[in-house]
Amino acid sequence: MRIKLDEIPASGLFFRVDDDSWVSANDFVCQGPVQATVSLGKDGGRILLAGTLHLTIVLECDRCLDSFTYIVDEEFEVVFELLAKEEEASVASDHFCKGSELDVEFLAEPVVDIFSVLAQQLYLALPDKKLCCDNCLGLCPECGANLNRFSCNCARGSGASPFNVLAKLKVH
Ligand SMILES: [Zn+2]
Ligand SMILES: [Zn+2]
Repeated sequence: MRIKLDEIPASGLFFRVDDDSWVSANDFVCQGPVQATVSLGKDGGRILLAGTLHLTIVLECDRCLDSFTYIVDEEFEVVFELLAKEEEASVASDHFCKGSELDVEFLAEPVVDIFSVLAQQLYLALPDKKLCCDNCLGLCPECGANLNRFSCNCARGSGASPFNVLAKLKVH
C-alpha cells in the first residue's frame, strides 16, 4: 500500500488498513484480526504519520522454542521528509542533527509505503527477549525435554536447575 504525497490533502488523511497481507509478507505469524489505522498529515515539507497497531502475534520462545502469543498494542508516530534530488547522493549525518530530536525518515521518492511502515513498527514493538512466560524453564541441555512440561531425570540429577541453586542457598 503506497500513498503518494500529492494524494494527501491539506486536511490530512485517516484510514484503516484492512489488508493484512503485509504481516505474512514480513514473516510475522498472527492470530486473529489485524487492526491498524494510519493518519497522514502535511506539516511544511514534512509528512507526519501517526498510527495504531493492534494484533496478536505468534512468537517462538527464546528458551524453550515453544510458540506463544504476544499482544501488540502500539501507537506510533513517524516523520518523513522528502529528499531533494541533490541531497539524495549525500544524506550527510549533519542532516540528521539539524536541531530536531524527532526521528525523521527520508524519502527518496514522494511515496510513503504504509505496509513497510507497519512492518517496521511491528518489529519495534516486539520484546528483545521473547519468553513464553517469565519463569520459562527452557529445554534440558542433556535430553532436550521441554522442562515446562516434563521433568526428565537428567535435569534432576545435573544440579544445573535454578531451583537446585536456590535450594543450596537456603541451606547456608
Ligand atoms: Zn518458553
Ligand atoms: Zn533431560
